[in-house]
Amino acid sequence: MTSTLIQISYLAAAFLFIFGLKRMSSPKTARSGIIWAGAGMVVATVVTFLYPQILEAGIGRIALIAFGVALGTVVAWKWGKSVAMTDMPQMVAIYNGMGGGAAGTIAAIELIKMSKGTGGHHDGITVALAVIGGLIGAVSLTGSVVAWAKLDGRLNKAPRIPGGHWTNFVVLGIAVISGLMVMFSDHPSGLLLATFFGSALLFGVMMTLPIGGADMPVIISLYNALTGLAVSFEGYVLQNPAMIIAGMVVGAAGTLLTLLMAKAMNRSIANVMFSGMGTGDAEGGDGIEGEMKEIGAEDAAISMAYGEKVIIVPGYGMAVAQAQHKLWEFVQLLQNRGIEVAFAIHPVAGRMPGHMNVLLAEAGVPYDIIYDLEDINEEFGTASAAIVIGANDVVNPAARTNKSSPIYGMPILNADQAEQVYVIKRGQGTGFSGIQNELFFGENTRMVYGDAQKVCAAFIAGVKSVS
Ligand code: NDP
Repeated sequence: MTSTLIQISYLAAAFLFIFGLKRMSSPKTARSGIIWAGAGMVVATVVTFLYPQILEAGIGRIALIAFGVALGTVVAWKWGKSVAMTDMPQMVAIYNGMGGGAAGTIAAIELIKMSKGTGGHHDGITVALAVIGGLIGAVSLTGSVVAWAKLDGRLNKAPRIPGGHWTNFVVLGIAVISGLMVMFSDHPSGLLLATFFGSALLFGVMMTLPIGGADMPVIISLYNALTGLAVSFEGYVLQNPAMIIAGMVVGAAGTLLTLLMAKAMNRSIANVMFSGMGTGDAEGGDGIEGEMKEIGAEDAAISMAYGEKVIIVPGYGMAVAQAQHKLWEFVQLLQNRGIEVAFAIHPVAGRMPGHMNVLLAEAGVPYDIIYDLEDINEEFGTASAAIVIGANDVVNPAARTNKSSPIYGMPILNADQAEQVYVIKRGQGTGFSGIQNELFFGENTRMVYGDAQKVCAAFIAGVKSVS
């Protein structure tokens, strides 16, 4: 009876995960999707307490699990409430690492039981999946922690590993060989298990250290996919269907997201992992001719107020400045004057896919004036003005023209083709890839220096002065 209830609950949890994920695919239903998926997680967590092994183990074990759940809930709730939108990738990295760590820990416990001859018979497939899941989970744990440290600015330089990628291959080789030895031994020794897990953990650190900061979101998404896979394998080891299904869903979603990001940058996963972009090794783009020409915010706004069509390209700086509300206020003033306004969203603008869409939705910008790159790129040539607000790499023409540029080949928004371009940024800072942007030196470009939110407030004053 209890076992049927457990299985039904897992089925319900799996249904809630998939239904929630489906709803997350549209901005209109995404919020409720998160609540549905969260409800699935509550069901999967509560059902743990029904396991006969847990109930038989007594109140001490139940209290320990309840304490762990309560601790995790409080920490995640407080952190989730206070985290800034721009710090979201770091939070995802840490959660991801914890998932990988949990999968690795399950593998370690099962393999230790095997080494001691306790915990019953382990068939070949179970042992193999425990080892593979343990390897992936351990790599994902330490790799995600390094990714978090880099994104959070705690690890700025990419330290050089003696021997470069060859050293990494040797460490990976040790992890794979010791893993195979564990698989084929009935009672693996403690030393063998320590070598296996130690080398897997070390490989996660060494593989992630040389990867450039600009590529970290892709790497986090890759680790996310790997964590899902590891959880799924360990779900098989524990014969837990909810873990298998949830792991597969995370693995598939993470894989698709990784491919989508890599495609949006026109790069292969191998190039992301081994090119060293953003580390200082692959940078270029200096020696651009011309100079940046400045204009006051109010003057820029007055000139736009007499135009016909304005296309806005938001980027990471708009998120940092939280300028979306003031920007929308300015846009409405332009619309009231009969000016056509559209938003152009690059797939990797900001620090995660969908970053800009979430911010614009939060400010109340209607979806029908927000366009994806492929739907609006042709339109820039017909715009009287383009506003580049806190964006940099996603409008860098070097991606189209300069073969030596590390972002060469990445599709970009053709803001430079507008009659007049206004670039809002605080100073001469480069974008996330660390390279200079020739758009800022263009004949038709004017720089509007300042924090994006303050500039938008000045834009509003400028338009009002001519209304
Ligand atoms: P960038 O990171 O290229 O540029 C942001 C610009 O904003 C900077 O030049 C900075 O200049 C300016 N800025 C910062 N703070 C403010 C502020 N308060 N007010 C005004 N301006 C500000 O942003 P993009 O969105 O153009 O590009 C995203 C980058 O992230 C790309 O390189 C992309 O490949 C990478 N990336 C994104 C992923 C995603 O999924 N979205 C995934 C992986 C990578 P200044 O300091 O002078 O103000």
